[in-house]
Amino acid sequence: MAEVIVRKLNKKFDSNHVVKDVDLHIRDKEFVVFVGPSGCGKTTTLRMIAGLEAITSGDILIGNTVVNQVPPMDRDIAMVFQNYALYPHMSVASNMAFGLKMRKFEKPEIEKRIKRAAEILGIGELLHRKPRQLSGGQRQRVALGRAIVRDPKVFLFDEPLSNLDAKLRVQMRVELKKLHERLAVTSIYVTHDQVEAMTLGDRVVVMKDGVVQQVGEPLELYNTPANRFVAGFIGSPAMNFAEVTLSGADGKLWAEAPGLKIGLPEPIARRANGRNGAKATVGIRPEDLHVAGPADPAELCFDVEVEVIEQLGSEILLDTRAGNSTFVASVEPTLRTKLHDRLRLAINPNRLHLFDAQTEAVI
Ligand code: ATP
Repeated sequence: MAEVIVRKLNKKFDSNHVVKDVDLHIRDKEFVVFVGPSGCGKTTTLRMIAGLEAITSGDILIGNTVVNQVPPMDRDIAMVFQNYALYPHMSVASNMAFGLKMRKFEKPEIEKRIKRAAEILGIGELLHRKPRQLSGGQRQRVALGRAIVRDPKVFLFDEPLSNLDAKLRVQMRVELKKLHERLAVTSIYVTHDQVEAMTLGDRVVVMKDGVVQQVGEPLELYNTPANRFVAGFIGSPAMNFAEVTLSGADGKLWAEAPGLKIGLPEPIARRANGRNGAKATVGIRPEDLHVAGPADPAELCFDVEVEVIEQLGSEILLDTRAGNSTFVASVEPTLRTKLHDRLRLAINPNRLHLFDAQTEAVI
C-alpha cells in the first residue's frame, strides 16, 4: 500500500507562512493533482512530501510510515521535474541508470529495468543519445523513464509539461494518463493549469495562499465549487460573477443589480433564506447561458447588449453586458448576431451558483 497522508502540514520561510494546516489523504494508486495560482504553496507542499524541503510542523506518512525525518533518497519516491534535470554529459541510458547505480542495483537488473521503461515510453532508439540531441518531448520521456526504472511507491511530478509547446503538452498529458493506468502507482502532480488538473486527476486539490480550498473529483469541483475562488479557477472560459443584492418578494428570492434581476431557483433560495437585503455574488458559467426561447422561465432570463463576438467554430463566445454586470455566454455557432445587438439570455436550470459576498463561500 502506498497511501500518502499529510496531517496539519505547515511551512514557514522566516515569517512567510506559505503552507497552512494542509490535511490530505491520498489513496493507494490514486492520481492527485495540486493546482492553484503561482505562489499558492503547491510546489512547497510537494517538495516537503519528497523530503527536499524541511517541514515547519505536521506529519507526512508514506505507506503508513512517518517520513518527517527520512532523507529523500530513502522515501521510495521518484520525482519528475519541470526542467527534466538530466545530466547533460551522460547518455539517456546512463541518466536512467544513475539512480539505480547509486542504490547499488546489479547491472543485469538495471538493464532489465531500462529496457522495460524504454519500451513503455517508446524511447528504445534514443538510449545512446545525449540529452542535447533530444527534443523537449523526448527529454521529458527520459525524465519519466528515470522515475519509472526506480519502481517507486509514489511518483511526484512538478509541472513536468510546462516547458513543452501546447500541442506536445496535450499529447504528453494523454501519455501520462495511459502510463498511470498501466503502472497504477500513487502519483501527486503539481500544475497551475486547471485543464491539466481536470484531465489528469482522479482527484484535484485546489490551493490558494497556502490553504487547501477544496479537494474533489474534477466534475465535483466543476459542478459544486465550495467557494468563489474554486468556481472561478476551475472551468474555461471562467465562470461569470455578478455582485447582487438579495431581495424577497412574491414568495421568491431575487438577485438584483442594476439592469439585472434573476429569480433564485430552489434549493438555492431555501439555503439563502433569511438573507433578504444581503449582498451576494451570483456565478454562472458561460456554457450555462443560452439565447432565451419560449420555454425558458422568465425569472431565469435577462437582457444584455452584445459587446464582443468571438467565433471559435465550435461555439461563439459572446461578451455581453447587463447594466454594471458582464457575462460571457457560449452560444451555438450558427447564431447570427452583431455588435450592440440586444439579446435575451437564459440560465440553464439548476446551474446558478450563489456565494456569500464576505466569506465567498458557496450558499
Ligand atoms: P509556482 O507555480 O509559481 O511554482 P507554487 O504554488 O508552487 O507557485 P511555491 O513555489 O510553493 O508556490 O511558493 C510558495 C511561496 O513560498 C511563495 O511565496 C514563494 O515565494 C515562497 N518560497 C518558496 N520557496 C522559498 C524559499 N526557498 N525561500 C523563501 N521563500 C520561498
